[in-house]
Amino acid sequence: MKYALISDIHANLEALQACLAEIDAEGADEILCLGDIVGYGACPNECLDLVRQRARQIVIGNHDAAVIETTEADYFNGDARAAVEWTRTELTAENRDFLLQLPYTASPADDLLLVHASPGEPEAWDYVIDERDARRELAAQSTRLCFVGHTHVPGFFVQQDGEILQFFPPDYHLEEGERALVNVGSVGQPRDGDQRAAFGLYDSASGRIEIRRIGYDISRVQDRIRETTLPASAASRLAWGV
Ligand code: ZN
Repeated sequence: MKYALISDIHANLEALQACLAEIDAEGADEILCLGDIVGYGACPNECLDLVRQRARQIVIGNHDAAVIETTEADYFNGDARAAVEWTRTELTAENRDFLLQLPYTASPADDLLLVHASPGEPEAWDYVIDERDARRELAAQSTRLCFVGHTHVPGFFVQQDGEILQFFPPDYHLEEGERALVNVGSVGQPRDGDQRAAFGLYDSASGRIEIRRIGYDISRVQDRIRETTLPASAASRLAWGV
């Protein structure tokens, strides 16, 4: 089975469309979404409509949960909170109801887990940044493989015997006996210094996991954001990938 994994779209329609076109060209069997469909960007409803149409399974992200008020937005920084408040006023009733029924985790296949932030405590929105974080999460992880987003920085944390090792994109080949926690990066707001949209591809037959990058029309997305009352930083950061 060839899976495509999309995360942290953040209402960036052009980035989402570019990724979906690439996913279709790859001939992926299933699209899985790791949450944060909304927040920051100007097209929350368009992105939700498209993800609902295309993804087989979807888990909720912290920005999605903040918009529907199932998680506190208090800990968000000022710009993130302003975007959450703007998104609340824009969201259709149908898309709001859709977010309300999303689960924190999903398991599309045996030994495969999807969660937005971390497998140990999905509702805590913990960040998995280094090997120490990954050790804690892999110990709590019930499956061999878990895909996450949340940090907007793609990478591979692999457990080989007792050791946890971090590997960097573009790809990793999961070997027999290894377990992994993989961050697929962000479609709509990459923060690893590469401004191109990121998504994951996983071939369960070969064990190969790849982070694919794809360019899109950033200036059009920035124009859309600047036409709204969303914080200007949501537009400017896209050019830098931060
Ligand atoms: Zn996010």
